[in-house]
Amino acid sequence: MGILEGKKGLILGVANDKSIAWGVTQACRREGAELGFNYLGEMLEKRVRPLAESVDATFIEPLDVGDDTQMDVFFEKVEQQWGKLDFMVHSIAFANKDSLRDRFSNVSREDFQLALDISAYSFVACAQRAAKLMGEGGSMVTMTYLGAVRAVPGYGMMGVSKAALEASTRYLAADLGTDGIRVNAVSAGPIRTLAASAVGDFRKLMEKSARGSMLGRNVSQEEVGNTTAYLLSDLASGVSGEVHYVDSGFHVGAGDPGVE
Ligand code: NAD
Repeated sequence: MGILEGKKGLILGVANDKSIAWGVTQACRREGAELGFNYLGEMLEKRVRPLAESVDATFIEPLDVGDDTQMDVFFEKVEQQWGKLDFMVHSIAFANKDSLRDRFSNVSREDFQLALDISAYSFVACAQRAAKLMGEGGSMVTMTYLGAVRAVPGYGMMGVSKAALEASTRYLAADLGTDGIRVNAVSAGPIRTLAASAVGDFRKLMEKSARGSMLGRNVSQEEVGNTTAYLLSDLASGVSGEVHYVDSGFHVGAGDPGVE
């Protein structure tokens, strides 16, 4: 029997089969969960729907997390269709590409707000709606990166957003813990995805991360997915407010992606 058998969960942020959320999907499905998905716009629906159907998804609906009305409609549909929710994975981020390429000190108010809104506030907005459908034992996980706690070249505004996301994880965990709901973040090492292509010199970052890590290699989306499935499951019933690194040990090693 899988560790997520009998549980219903939302996986937000699949764009294609390279997405970290897709690695999470495969692990959760293998462990027995019934899954629901969002997609951002019609373009992505064409990619997401067949993927979701291949894992027998019972819920596939549009959701732009920057739009409160869409958020309300999406979670109302979850309630109508499923009634209750056991877990939610938030694997969503966005920043204006130019704001990551330019010097961080040049970031505009608009770009700062956009990155924080989609990459950090959206987790809080999803959590507040998802929590209403969860009872004792509910679990939420978001995806973060080391750039939240270190100044990683090329990551600028996204690092600031991840710092807000990690702090939000702790405050959500404190709030929702009173309802028996756990909130954690997984800090993944670099993985080649659509979102990663916006990060300046990502290839170099991957090389340095592999070289500086304890395992001497980067991680796969499957490894991130397996750890996330554990955090979503009752095996992690005593774990909340945590940032769990899945980065081959890079963050505690001597290596640094910013140093030659
Ligand atoms: P990805 O491009 O596959 O996923 C990003 C997702 O965000 C996409 O599905 C996209 O549709 C969604 N998204 C963006 N704006 C949205 C909006 N307004 N409404 C709804 N959805 C929106 O890339 P990924 O690397 O799998 O990213 C997933 C998460 O993992 C992100 O939070 C990212 O920062 C984080 N992360 C990635 C890496 C990496 O190296 N790839 C490392 C650590 C953390």
